[in-house]
Amino acid sequence: MADIPPTPITHLSEIEAAMAESVSKFANEVVLPRARDMDEAESMDPAIVRQLFEQGLMGIEIPEEYGGAGMNFTSAIVGIEELARADPSVSVLVDVHNTLCNTAIIKYGSEALRRKWLPKLATDTVASFCLSEPVSGSDAFALATRAEETPDGSFKINGGKMWITNSSEADLFIVFANLDPAKGYRGITAFVVGKDTPGFAIAKKEKKLGIRASSTCVLTFDDVVVPNENLLGERGHGYRYAISLLNEGRIGIAAQMTGLALGAFENAVKYVWNDRKQFGSLVGEFQGMQHQIAQSWTEIAAARALVYNAARKKEAGEDFVKDAAMAKLYSSQVAGRVSGLAIEWMGGMGFVREGLAEKYWRDSKIGAIYEGTSNIQLNTIAKLLQKEYTTWLQCLRGCGARPLLAVKHKAEAITE
Ligand SMILES: Cc1cc2nc3c(=O)[nH]c(=O)nc-3n(C[C@H](O)[C@H](O)[C@H](O)COP(=O)(O)OP(=O)(O)OC[C@H]3O[C@@H](n4cnc5c(N)ncnc54)[C@H](O)[C@@H]3O)c2cc1C
Repeated sequence: MADIPPTPITHLSEIEAAMAESVSKFANEVVLPRARDMDEAESMDPAIVRQLFEQGLMGIEIPEEYGGAGMNFTSAIVGIEELARADPSVSVLVDVHNTLCNTAIIKYGSEALRRKWLPKLATDTVASFCLSEPVSGSDAFALATRAEETPDGSFKINGGKMWITNSSEADLFIVFANLDPAKGYRGITAFVVGKDTPGFAIAKKEKKLGIRASSTCVLTFDDVVVPNENLLGERGHGYRYAISLLNEGRIGIAAQMTGLALGAFENAVKYVWNDRKQFGSLVGEFQGMQHQIAQSWTEIAAARALVYNAARKKEAGEDFVKDAAMAKLYSSQVAGRVSGLAIEWMGGMGFVREGLAEKYWRDSKIGAIYEGTSNIQLNTIAKLLQKEYTTWLQCLRGCGARPLLAVKHKAEAITE
């Protein structure tokens, strides 16, 4: 194996860098000017959704043979981050669609499901990921939605879902329901449900604190019958699929949060280093301000390193679960801190709804909630750490490096 020295974790391949550049341009020229109005209207501009498809941002990892861009996971992360700099609502639409829904069909769908849905998902059909319910949030596998097999081999779904992102725009819903409650969570099975299926309804659109342009709805399933071919993967494997998809998805949310932190930071420094003078100086030149700015930038850089490290480990086929949890936990904390401070740096101008400062802060709060709350990330990190250290401590002398130092650079893993 060629001895290629490890590169800094946030370096991008040529394709990824081109992605960053084109999404950044799109985000600044098309998304940013609409962000405030969409937030006030609490709705996503359909023209933006159309352009996301035209830009190839809705089928980033979908293989080219199914009409997608055939890019890697890090490209999706780059795109999500760049979009969040302009508008975290647009970013999460792209994130959920790509990292959860497209990946679900790519990884677990039958060839028939892939042929039917992937070309649409890449070109004109938005998707939603439906796991949470009124009775099951953090305890996701306590879900109460039921599926039963009918004599002709179809499946009938009954129940309800809550807080489902993209549901106003979506035509395809990945739905988790229990096909065999006697087996507990091992009965959970995933299905593909089209919006027009009789018995399916959007019962309510939530009014929210942040990411207000992103739709979040309550869904009901009343004797929703789907054909046998809409079974996604294997019966009873739904919980495994959900865990695996959410582990990846968390890196996407972490990217959304670092993008948000960057956006809030840039929005504020533009003001304090260019526009606003007090006591005869730009306010960003006072040392008290500069220290906060420097501290915030350092935290953003640390969060980004965690995000890109998790993404690269996933791509390398290494275990990335702890890294994804750390990235999501930390980046959402940084997003909250930086966007909050950014308001203070801008004084009154940060507090009014004319600019975007207060919006970034409101939008940041969701990072600690969806795709596993911060406490759930901490649980995961602690559980995995304890396992690693217990294994190491139980090992006899000479069993090797300490757990955190055990990762060797794999040259082949980072080549694109
Ligand atoms: C805007 C938005 C969009 C969403 N989008 C989707 C979506 O597209 N698809 C989907 O399926 N779901 C979605 N969700 C649901 C989201 O994933 C859940 O809200 C989240 O998992 C938390 O569940 P909960 O709200 O029921 O909180 P709860 O589980 O009731 O948690 C409440 C509090 O208890 C704490 N807690 C719970 N259990 C533990 C524990 N074991 N240890 C320590 N603390 C604990 C939590 O950390 C939290 O602070 C979305 C939610 C929101 C708000």
